[in-house]
Amino acid sequence: MDFEKQRKNLVSIIQSKGISNERVLEAMLAVERHKFIPKAHWAEAYDDYPVPIGEGQTISQPYTVAFMTELLDVETGQKVLEIGTGSGYQAAILACLGAQVFTIERIYTLYQRTSKLLKELGYQQIKTFYADGTEGLPQYAPFDRIIVTASGQLQQTFLDQLVVGGLLVAPIDDGGMGSTMTRITKVAENDYITERYPGFSFVPLVKGTR
Ligand code: SAH
Repeated sequence: MDFEKQRKNLVSIIQSKGISNERVLEAMLAVERHKFIPKAHWAEAYDDYPVPIGEGQTISQPYTVAFMTELLDVETGQKVLEIGTGSGYQAAILACLGAQVFTIERIYTLYQRTSKLLKELGYQQIKTFYADGTEGLPQYAPFDRIIVTASGQLQQTFLDQLVVGGLLVAPIDDGGMGSTMTRITKVAENDYITERYPGFSFVPLVKGTR
């Protein structure tokens, strides 16, 4: 399989769906998504769909990863907190953009597998944590950016652990089956700007670990 060619094709599909940030598109071109999913699904690695990664979880749809990354507007050297490590793909995209990534996973087997993979792939700027991400990571806070890759309610913890001027991107349950992608800018302490983009679908944000 010519993965590089498939990746180029995927990036042009994502571009045609409205993603225009060059740095985001370059990161999507650079990170080898197939390495983050089980071999049994490699044939679908560069289709614009989520793929099962075990434990009932999925690696997000590439368009969704691109959309969230574009909203997150990461600059080189920034501290970024990710809730929901999963396959490690989103973390790798953020690292590719020059971020210092702190990523939390609540399922031990995924945490273990992905920590090993990221080490093997040489992502030294990604730190993995096994914990309940709804509590954030107080010992490393505040963060310039926070990205949540599972859907739930907005957690005050996340807003508390964001720098003034920082951005939070999170899918919020819409009350039905879907999620509304939400970007919150912390303009000042207790002063926020919220932007909403409906029509997404995610695995749930679950409290506790297992
Ligand atoms: N960013 C991931 C998406 C994986 S799906 C990727 O690129 O592959 C979302 C992940 O969030 C799942 O692995 C799920 O176990 C995890 N998750 C859900 N609730 C969580 C919580 N409270 N804390 C940490 N991780 C959580």
